[in-house]
Amino acid sequence: MPSEQSDLFDVAIIGGGPAGTTVGTFLAQRGRRVALFEKARHPRFHIGESLLPRNLPILKRLGIAEEVASIGVHKPGAELISPDHDARQTFGFGEALRPDPDHAYQVERSKFDEILLCNARVHGVSVREDCVVTGTDIGPEGCHLTYEENGRLGECRARFLIDASGRDGFLGRKMAGRRRSRNHNSAAMFAHFEDVPADAWTEPGNILIFWFEHGWIWFIPLKSGLTSVGAVCMPDYLKTRRGPLDVFFLETLRLCPKAWSAIRSARMATPARGAGNYSYKAERPFGDRYLLLGDAYAFVDPVFSSGVFFAMRSAELAAASIDECLERPARTAKLLRRYQRRVDSMIDTFCWFIYRFNTPTLRNLFMAPREFLKLRNAIISVVTGDVDAPGLVWRLAIFRLIFNVFRLVEHRSARLWELRRRGMLSVSMPEDEVAEKS
Ligand SMILES: Cc1cc2nc3c(=O)[nH]c(=O)nc-3n(C[C@H](O)[C@H](O)[C@H](O)COP(=O)(O)OP(=O)(O)OC[C@H]3O[C@@H](n4cnc5c(N)ncnc54)[C@H](O)[C@@H]3O)c2cc1C
Repeated sequence: MPSEQSDLFDVAIIGGGPAGTTVGTFLAQRGRRVALFEKARHPRFHIGESLLPRNLPILKRLGIAEEVASIGVHKPGAELISPDHDARQTFGFGEALRPDPDHAYQVERSKFDEILLCNARVHGVSVREDCVVTGTDIGPEGCHLTYEENGRLGECRARFLIDASGRDGFLGRKMAGRRRSRNHNSAAMFAHFEDVPADAWTEPGNILIFWFEHGWIWFIPLKSGLTSVGAVCMPDYLKTRRGPLDVFFLETLRLCPKAWSAIRSARMATPARGAGNYSYKAERPFGDRYLLLGDAYAFVDPVFSSGVFFAMRSAELAAASIDECLERPARTAKLLRRYQRRVDSMIDTFCWFIYRFNTPTLRNLFMAPREFLKLRNAIISVVTGDVDAPGLVWRLAIFRLIFNVFRLVEHRSARLWELRRRGMLSVSMPEDEVAEKS
């Protein structure tokens, strides 16, 4: 194993979240020498607790499927609850076009990310925690990275650099043209609650999603017995906040009677946190000898719980591409362009639904899903993360057509929604300094 100071690594990675640890492990499995730098020390809190079924094959290939199962809550699907519909809709993962795996897990990210990081170490990745990357210099010979660890400065040289620094976006902010999304902008408040009654769920382990006037609310049950509760709200509403975040968060939950009735007897066990302005994408996900991965490249919205899956799946694809780039440097641009097409198409599939999730039209369609042509099964496939399912593309095209027809019919409510969306201004949450600066 080379030491960071003197020797040349094949790949250096900034960030030890799902993206960084996954790409590191897969590269190490391919025999590459990898150095990973993480500014925190695991276990550390992170939001993003609901996984998708398509995470499971990746966990298997990483060799940690059983370990993750042991810290997770079995998640069979999602329950959608609307203020305008009496019955809730359950999307069971077993109804997807490809129903295997038929479940995912809800996890405490502190434990999940620690498993991923330890696994990277076990596979031979040189991992440094409490170690913040402070500078990078990328030239024709590779990359030169500087870091600070317990007040000491260090440096590392590698042939290729991966930015997996999450929403901090180490390279994205500096050189990859990170842009806030114009189509979508909201912010979230969240906390863990104690003693949420079990009868809030139709089926234990599901993620609950409640629509309400200003956005939507999630309930995610965790193995510790706590429930993660969050509210994703539109900027015009968030701008009405006057008091402290904890108070505003509870006031917001009260505005959604169906969620509030389930939670009113529960206790908020952690202070509320906030994440603002979180929809963005970097203009250039790669350059000569570097690549942006996971949240460092793009993040849109938590509604389909796609963030961790996207980070890990793109990490797996990136490991294969980078390995080949190192083998045949002359093909780098072509290989990375091919990689980008796959990743962007994955993001685009989710984005179509995310941008429309709060519209009355999509809500009505989701609450009364069409059984014909397996359109319902196709939507569930997207919700599982299976964006490559055979027969998905044409079914989604028909679904989009139906959406557009319904939007014309429901012209008035659709128009009101559009006006509200266009009036959206960006919103900063003081609790999330990083997001605020973007
Ligand atoms: C409100 C909200 C709710 C969400 N809910 C879900 C959900 O239910 N399911 C889901 O799948 N996703 C969810 N997400 C998304 C999910 O949190 C992210 O998509 C996921 O964590 C991305 O993984 P990553 O590895 O790219 O980044 P991260 O997990 O953020 O990891 C990046 C790592 O880089 C480190 N780092 C940063 N800068 C440096 C530096 N300079 N030097 C060294 N290390 C550095 C950080 O400490 C961090 O550990 C949610 C997001 C938000 C905002």
